[in-house]
Amino acid sequence: MINIDNEKILDVLKKQKEYFYEGETKDIDFRIRQLQKLKGAIQDNEKLIMEALYKDLHKPEFEAYATEIGYIYDSIGYFIKNLKKWAKVRRVKTPTVHFGSRSYIYAEPYGSVLIVGPFNYPFQLIVEPLIGAIAAGNCVVIKPSEYTTNVSKIVYKIIKENFHEKYIEVIEGGKEETSVLINSPFDYIFFTGSVAVGKIVAEAAAKNLVPVTLELGGKSPTIVHKDANIESASERIIWGKFMNVGQTCVAPDYLLVHKEIKDQLVFKLVEKIKIFYGNNPKTSKDYGRIVNEKHLSRIKALIDEDKVILGGDYDTEELYMAPTIINNVTWEDKVMEEEIFGPVLPVLEYEDLNEIINKINSRPKPLALYLFTESREVEKKVVENISYGGGCINDTMTHLASPFLPFGGVGTAGVGSYHGQRSFETFSHMKSVLKKSTRFNLKFIFPPYTKKKVAMLRRVMK
Ligand code: NAD
Repeated sequence: MINIDNEKILDVLKKQKEYFYEGETKDIDFRIRQLQKLKGAIQDNEKLIMEALYKDLHKPEFEAYATEIGYIYDSIGYFIKNLKKWAKVRRVKTPTVHFGSRSYIYAEPYGSVLIVGPFNYPFQLIVEPLIGAIAAGNCVVIKPSEYTTNVSKIVYKIIKENFHEKYIEVIEGGKEETSVLINSPFDYIFFTGSVAVGKIVAEAAAKNLVPVTLELGGKSPTIVHKDANIESASERIIWGKFMNVGQTCVAPDYLLVHKEIKDQLVFKLVEKIKIFYGNNPKTSKDYGRIVNEKHLSRIKALIDEDKVILGGDYDTEELYMAPTIINNVTWEDKVMEEEIFGPVLPVLEYEDLNEIINKINSRPKPLALYLFTESREVEKKVVENISYGGGCINDTMTHLASPFLPFGGVGTAGVGSYHGQRSFETFSHMKSVLKKSTRFNLKFIFPPYTKKKVAMLRRVMK
């Protein structure tokens, strides 16, 4: 049984469009009040959100607050502080050929936007785009992931208790519901999820010529060069890889380690896992769980047991999978075929940096790339010669925690970006307006086009 059909969604869209054209959402103070209301509603439900995140993914309190709730509070505060500035009509230069004119850019909301979220940060990855959509003055329909049902329910509760459906609506459900939604005439679709579903969304949106942002995934390499600070590299890699049990779109997917330091680094990686999660991570309160059995068996199947040097054990009933390191991995191994999205860290070694740059460039463009090095030259070479969504030097994942850095993929890792002002821009159509004075009338642009006019034109446009 699906919860919605075409008629229901067309009805929601009709109500939202009517409301949108009443103009209330275009008022900047209204938008700010809605952001404040959203923040208040999250604060009121914080305990329930934490509980839901624990039930769905065993998220430890620190991670849940840092990556899902506190993150959102910060973001709302930042939007409220800057919104008036971003939303101002921007006057820009006008070329001298348009003498007597002024040019403006109006940030105008699209109308009704659809936001579809994944399971891994089920709260934040719905609410962060929602903040952008509200800030830009849109009406919104949200579809949280069906894999994290507890979070989906709490998102539903928060929205229903605080917003009218003509402004923000939540549709719960899975594939079928999403399919109905993405085939509906929204004014914008913002999708976060896998590459495979991203293609389905892009195809559906193309049929109605609906603009899209696609925040997708892929394999994100982490390069550890021979001059890296091994102590901090090992800590930062283990933190980034095993947060949320590796179910992070920008988690380091695999390691490329210089031959000279590989043994040293691997030793340190093992040591850090033990320090962070103890000798039995299953009993650690700081170690989460895989979202469901389907994903657990998918990840299990990627492991070559002969190459495991730590972990490899799992408990299907508890959806537990140990932090696992596999060594001496080659590009041909199964684990290198698809995004791992789980607690398995393959280690490959290299000798020649150029070779791995070429290798990475021969594969789909990564969503993230991390490089550990003390050399500016190596940093320049990697950053300038590999195309990827974004990343860090000497850290993992933190680039996405800055509102000053647009976050998004390139190539198969995604289309478009958001966070901070970029979110506001993503959910706004930038309308260009040229206003011409009627005090002058340059008749030379009008026919009949004489030779003299052509000569004049050539003098101006060269
Ligand atoms: P998913 O693509 O399976 O699901 C995402 C959404 O799509 C869900 O709401 C789901 O209901 C819907 N969906 C699933 N199958 C569908 C279909 N056939 N037709 C229409 N809709 C469908 O993704 P997931 O497993 O929830 O999340 C993991 C993936 O998301 C990983 O690949 C990860 O890298 C990526 N991700 C990307 C980002 C980012 O910001 N770039 C963030 C988080 C996750």
